[in-house]
Amino acid sequence: NTLEARIKSDIREIPDFPKPGIGYKDITTLLDNPERFAEVIDAFKARYAEQNIDHIVAIESRGFIFGAPLAYALGVGLSLVRKPGKLPYKCHSVDYALEYGSDTVEMHIDAVKEGGRVLVIDDLLATGGTAAAACKLVEACGGEVVECAFLVELAFINAREAKLKDQKVFALATY
Ligand code: 5GP
Repeated sequence: NTLEARIKSDIREIPDFPKPGIGYKDITTLLDNPERFAEVIDAFKARYAEQNIDHIVAIESRGFIFGAPLAYALGVGLSLVRKPGKLPYKCHSVDYALEYGSDTVEMHIDAVKEGGRVLVIDDLLATGGTAAAACKLVEACGGEVVECAFLVELAFINAREAKLKDQKVFALATY
């Protein structure tokens, strides 16, 4: 009974959400298990405690849920990647392609310091488009992405070989 197996047993699968053919991984059931949520944050903390991280960059919105307690646990700053128009100060902006259309993410221009060592975090890695855009935002600030961390990786989509081939990728549970 590994941590990965325990994580998977706490994730609820929702067929055909948000559209037919998609098997959605619902993490709210994991968040509602305090023991598991703590174990997840502790596992990330153990991996990154000795890596001289300066900032956690968390991706809206479920990335915030994991990024905030991890930033607290590591004693480092938390920076936010958000959808357009949400952040009040001057932003870097990155567009990325979706299956149909495109999307944009933004981060404050001073969210990460020049040369800062950054951990990018989100709940789930699918195509990697969102995380790759977040990495570009970090690089636009002059920061260095140490690794991209996820609770869940949908490895059958193979983001590591496609959109994230220039980054190190870590996930606690893989499908
Ligand atoms: P990607 O850009 O890698 O294709 O998509 C990842 C983004 O979409 C993440 O921000 C993630 O929160 C969200 N996402 C896509 N599919 C799922 C899913 O099945 N479950 C959850 N919890 N989030 C998903």
